[in-house]
Amino acid sequence: MIYFDYNATTPLCPEALRAMGGFVSRPGNPSSQHQWGRKARVALDLVRGQIRTLVGATKAEVVFTSGGTEGDHLALHGWAAHGLAEGRSRIVFGKIEHPAILGAARQLEAQGFEVVFARVLSNGEVDVESVRPYCDEKLAVLAVMLANNETGVIQPVRALAELAKAKGAMVHCDGVQGTGKIPLHFDSLMVDSFALSAHKFGGPKGIGAVVMPKGSALKPLWSGGGQEGGIRPGSEATALVVGMGAAAQEASRQLDEGGSHFELRDAFEEELKEIPNITIVGKEAPRLPTTSSVCFHGRLSYKMVEALDQRGICVSGGSACHSGGPVPSDGMLSLGMSPEDASATVRFSFGSQSTREELDVLLKTLIEVAASREVQR
Ligand code: PLP
Repeated sequence: MIYFDYNATTPLCPEALRAMGGFVSRPGNPSSQHQWGRKARVALDLVRGQIRTLVGATKAEVVFTSGGTEGDHLALHGWAAHGLAEGRSRIVFGKIEHPAILGAARQLEAQGFEVVFARVLSNGEVDVESVRPYCDEKLAVLAVMLANNETGVIQPVRALAELAKAKGAMVHCDGVQGTGKIPLHFDSLMVDSFALSAHKFGGPKGIGAVVMPKGSALKPLWSGGGQEGGIRPGSEATALVVGMGAAAQEASRQLDEGGSHFELRDAFEEELKEIPNITIVGKEAPRLPTTSSVCFHGRLSYKMVEALDQRGICVSGGSACHSGGPVPSDGMLSLGMSPEDASATVRFSFGSQSTREELDVLLKTLIEVAASREVQR
């Protein structure tokens, strides 16, 4: 199989697999006093440093979670509770946020919070001006993703954070898609929390972190043994954390030295021009160098994904097939796309193990698939 679906998940990098080895079989709770416990604790602290390096943070707190979904929930619920104590009851975010954020917001809405969706521009960026009227003393939390999972469009995090923070609100950034793909400077993003997930940058699934400025007063989702400074109680998954650290270190190295996969997206889009009637979504906006979202006008993306799969290539579509026909993604619709175009959009995402040879196979196959009768609307 040829894999171009890195935004969904990445293959585990060899460095992570090697690092995890010793920690899978050996006991040793990081909270234990004996030497095996101490060893685990030292390993966790080393990973906190590797995560800080990956996100360009100097002194930030790193709290381990089970991944992006938990990190988003922890931050949104925690900051909402914090805001409520100050009489703040509004949360604001763009409609293109991941279901993890949308789901947490729905829970908060049921608890009485006012939920405001910021407008999204047709280039895929959240419209900063549409947020301004909602930034006042009622705003508890503003959530903005670092980069969108479907389009790869990098969001104006700092500009939005400045607006919200000027009114004393908290800002959460879902950094799951951008981490490991672009250089980051956590301090200059001006956010109060930043969620990341290891399986999006070569680490294992089921582990992630929330990065916060030192001394943050985030409230926990549950209570327990006081691990992770009491913010995320529960025994840490040492082996997974160590795997995440090794993947973070490898991702930092690739960002510093430049990996050949960072050039594949541009080569792909250049050669796609051979296919008639296509639009690259978000092309005018800053984007992750590893994501290309392409609208194949007049075709059905779920049929294209199926046809590519049958030919041994893994990609993702901007629509799902339900019994009543194609259902376009809300994210694509919020860019102002018609339901037909949203249902014709396919996402190609590249990563550290992608090669030029694989890209050539993709292009050759895609030209044939896009013209085939089986994928036409
Ligand atoms: N946020 C974004 C932007 C994502 O793309 C994803 C995963 O696809 C998540 C959050 C959820 O992360 P996890 O799978 O680690 O729970």
